[in-house]
Amino acid sequence: MTDQDSRAISTLPVLGETAHQAYPSATLYIVATPIGNVTDITLRALHVLSLVDAVACEDTRNTAQLMTRFGLHKPLIAAHQHNEREVAETLIARLQAGERIALVSDAGTPGVSDPGARIVDAVRAAGLRVLPLPGASAAVTALSASGLVNDQFYFVGFLPAKAKQRENFLGTLRAVTATMVFYEAPHRILDCAVALAAAFEPEREVVFARELTKMFEEIHRCPLSEAEAWIKADPHREKGEFVVLLAGAPAAEDEQDVEAERILKILADRMLGQAGRQPGRPDHRPQEKRALRPRVAVKRRRLIGDREASSRSST
Ligand code: SAM
Repeated sequence: MTDQDSRAISTLPVLGETAHQAYPSATLYIVATPIGNVTDITLRALHVLSLVDAVACEDTRNTAQLMTRFGLHKPLIAAHQHNEREVAETLIARLQAGERIALVSDAGTPGVSDPGARIVDAVRAAGLRVLPLPGASAAVTALSASGLVNDQFYFVGFLPAKAKQRENFLGTLRAVTATMVFYEAPHRILDCAVALAAAFEPEREVVFARELTKMFEEIHRCPLSEAEAWIKADPHREKGEFVVLLAGAPAAEDEQDVEAERILKILADRMLGQAGRQPGRPDHRPQEKRALRPRVAVKRRRLIGDREASSRSST
């Protein structure tokens, strides 16, 4: 970006729009922050962070650093996984006094494999307003660049760290047809790849989205049988942050077809039987009785239509 380009952005009329929106008091603002590239913060997030009375954050050092990069300085309240319930009480008292408070995590969207959900639950239960500001999340960022074609995804998050628990848990996912999204720590990425390869078919596609939005970003797709070799091919691969996406199991369409055919045959035989005709014999019945045949065809089309509609909604 040239200096001229960045000047153009700072004079955009849309910046004024951000300032003129409503930012109610006595409200908890859930603010997503970047997952790597600091400029991925939204204009609205910056405005809210400049407006609030305090920022509740997972790690005060990280958030202080982020705020400083944008010239922002606010009182910070530590709100991490070990004190969520107690801090919720403090935040509720301050919100009831009319304050605006932002909730952020170290990176991405609070409450998504990060602290925040218990605070939000308590604040909502106290009848106070919670206002979300959308922004970066590693799961959706990785999905958008994965090229795995599937309208459904199943967010798994972190797998159990212990091998046996991980193996058992992966066993429960074998029939999932949605794309599965895992978060993984760098020191466990190799174990994760090996465990996935042991639990699923070798030809299942897997995507490793590493260091998203950062300088050494890599997005690699391969069959599970090649996953371990890919990670081992470069010692740097066991460093950095990972989202792992696994293609879902193929939908069991063949079984559905067989079942639909079976039901249609029963229906057709019954209707023809009611009309006094042996199935498979030539139809010598009068015109009005033969008219039953199209009705069977209509019923068949309806059944197939229903089945196709339900299979479309489940892919
Ligand atoms: N709340 C965050 C979100 O909305 O994505 C997730 C926080 S979770 C504690 C951290 C995990 O998210 C990492 O271990 C990694 O699996 C994933 N992650 C975060 N940033 C990432 C990045 N830049 N590239 C790849 N994965 C990332």
